[in-house]
Amino acid sequence: MTASLIRSRAMLCRATSRAAIEQVDDGAVVQEDGIIAALGSYDDLSRRYRDMPVIGTGQDILLPGFVNAHHHVGLTPLQLGSPDMPLELWWITRMVCRSVNPYLDTLYGAFDMIGSGITTVQHIHGWVPGTATEVAAVSEQVLRAYDDVGMRVSYCYAVREQNRLVYQDDAVFVASLPEALRGPMQRWFDRFRMSLDDMLGLFESLHAKHSARRRTRIQLAPANLHWCSDTALDRLGQCAERHGVRLHIHLLETAYQKEYARRRTGGSAVAHLGRFGLLHERMTLGHGTWLSEADIALVAETGTCICHNCSSNFRLRSGLAPLNAFAAAGITTAIGLDEAGINDDRDMLQEMRLVLRAHRTPGMDDDVPTVPQVFRMATAGGAQTTGFAGAIGEIAVGKAADLVLLDWDHIATPYLDAETSLADAVIQRGKRGGVRTVLCDGEVIYDHGRITQVDQGAALAALHEELQHALSHDEMERRALSRALLPHVRAFYRGYIDPARHDPFYRTSAKT
Ligand SMILES: [Zn+2]
Repeated sequence: MTASLIRSRAMLCRATSRAAIEQVDDGAVVQEDGIIAALGSYDDLSRRYRDMPVIGTGQDILLPGFVNAHHHVGLTPLQLGSPDMPLELWWITRMVCRSVNPYLDTLYGAFDMIGSGITTVQHIHGWVPGTATEVAAVSEQVLRAYDDVGMRVSYCYAVREQNRLVYQDDAVFVASLPEALRGPMQRWFDRFRMSLDDMLGLFESLHAKHSARRRTRIQLAPANLHWCSDTALDRLGQCAERHGVRLHIHLLETAYQKEYARRRTGGSAVAHLGRFGLLHERMTLGHGTWLSEADIALVAETGTCICHNCSSNFRLRSGLAPLNAFAAAGITTAIGLDEAGINDDRDMLQEMRLVLRAHRTPGMDDDVPTVPQVFRMATAGGAQTTGFAGAIGEIAVGKAADLVLLDWDHIATPYLDAETSLADAVIQRGKRGGVRTVLCDGEVIYDHGRITQVDQGAALAALHEELQHALSHDEMERRALSRALLPHVRAFYRGYIDPARHDPFYRTSAKT
């Protein structure tokens, strides 16, 4: 049995309401085999567990490990040559991204996350070209990277079987292009060779192989409404039911997606999911930026969760999700860093502050995000959206020992008034550079700037080396195709939204 006593200056255990976080001064935790066996004051626990190794000096703040509830890749699109664009155009510019070694890329993303206190990630894997066998091999490399680095992963492969580039049938889109682009475009579509059966088969095999492991869970992900036929939604819903697993779907990320749903279903994307039994507490809607009041009521009534991807929404001009309305309706919300945060990295401390600030609408009512609310989103809220729901996200007896020690001096130097609430100080001033130690499943996976389970320097050097070769023929064709396609895709979306029907672009106040 491995056991340790983790000592703190104070610990923030869990949010008990939108106004309070349970705090224990001089707090400590005993973990045995990765599970919290006792918690209390250090004085008391150090007497009871006299010979137990101690982690922490008593100068740190102890927090539950954060959950990044929506993640895709390591190297960011910007790092790979793709600028930020409105989402529907970004899919086109994103085609320039190079092929990256999935194992090293996943490690790179994990290093970034762990360094900001993230211990669990919802890895939504997708857009991987190849046959079922080839994609399965990539999935295994992703899972192996998390296993090696010691991080918890809730993994899903995003099912995408139609309308793969614009909100239109692939064949119709190819036919709409000038002759010279049809071949390269068709070749791009042909790279993705998995059928719906293959994608469900991939889930079945990964679930059978990995679900007994402590730090790995396998879930399902319909990638988005436009990417899934009704048949796919139906089969994914049945599969989730059969295995009792959770699902995560991108939904209503942009106003264009809201209009797509109207054209396809005559109504709302959320209501359409309900027709397939896909609204329940095991379903998470990623983004949910354009939910209507009726959608929000339906989400709340069914216990469906929402993952708020604040940075991503800003970066890709998707809009500002109505987080305050989600909170007022009592919806379980999580935070996702998506492809990358506002600083082009995966920094949960930074993202929590962005969420805290981005929704401070004018006025005096208690209806804007609070520190405990955002803390809960990054911990217990995120946990609810993963395969580890109920087991992680709080410092409590019986929960997993996924813990973060944050240096108090980093927060309080040179002065912090004693009247300032500890939770306010930690969430508003805590920085990545102050993260001292991170434990996952009771194991130290990060200590004083060092990833402990993997040689970080060697992995980053290998990632660098892998990308030093010249662009392959395939990569060059994709770059040329991306450039040539952009005007056609702009033309496709021109006039897509009828301003008489929605006014989604925040222009109302400018008009008056
Ligand atoms: Zn996403």
